[in-house]
Amino acid sequence: MRVHRVFLEDLEIGERTLSGTEAHHLAQVLRVRPGTKVKVFDGSGLEAAGEVREVDDMSVTLYLDSPKSSDVEAALKLTLAVPLLKGDKFSEVVRRGTELGAVRFVPVLTARCDVKVLSENKLTRYRRVAKEAAKQSGRSVVPEVEGLSKLSKLDLGSLTLVAHPLASATLQEVISSNDASGVEEVMLITGPEGGLSEGEVESLVERGAKGVTLGARILRAETAPIALTAALLLPDAL
Ligand code: SAH
Repeated sequence: MRVHRVFLEDLEIGERTLSGTEAHHLAQVLRVRPGTKVKVFDGSGLEAAGEVREVDDMSVTLYLDSPKSSDVEAALKLTLAVPLLKGDKFSEVVRRGTELGAVRFVPVLTARCDVKVLSENKLTRYRRVAKEAAKQSGRSVVPEVEGLSKLSKLDLGSLTLVAHPLASATLQEVISSNDASGVEEVMLITGPEGGLSEGEVESLVERGAKGVTLGARILRAETAPIALTAALLLPDAL
């Protein structure tokens, strides 16, 4: 049977009593019993094997082995900078990007964004989606979901790629160029439903970002960041 994964901050060897939603989920939904093995993770890359010692209505006591670093993280630290999209599409980007191994999501405000406001409730929901997706995919890192940033204010870091249908370089070309050698962190910027304006792409390129094409077919705003993430993070994809 698959081992249940439990989120718990500040992992330490020894007994820990959980209350709140994680305890409720273990006790009432998964119906764990004393002796059930679990895997506990802290959201920042540490995990520990655990065993259930006691279960009651409101709490679950676990015994934790010594924590160790997770070995499922990608070597490349990938940030997705994506506009808020209509409907529930931004949360789909967070969910699938987390499964594929991204470590950070930055919602960005661009000229042609249809959605321009990020409420506290939505941000909380996106963070919950990242946590659930991390749990399900066996990650012990929960990717960060930041507050809304203006495209012009983004901190571009050492290597930033901006996906634009009119760009001429392919992902392979950009990644194999000198500028990308030894890079450990990459930011990917994709546009909203209406695309990025030419002015926005130009100013990102002036600030050092590299334009990349994803080929002749136009991908939807929620597909492009996921296709790029898959191309960069699936083993041997490039
Ligand atoms: N009508 C828009 C398309 C937007 S698609 C336009 O013509 O620009 C949404 C975003 O996905 C784009 O802003 C871009 O970042 C990315 N994208 C989609 N298809 C792409 C492709 N073939 N190459 C590069 N980027 C692409």
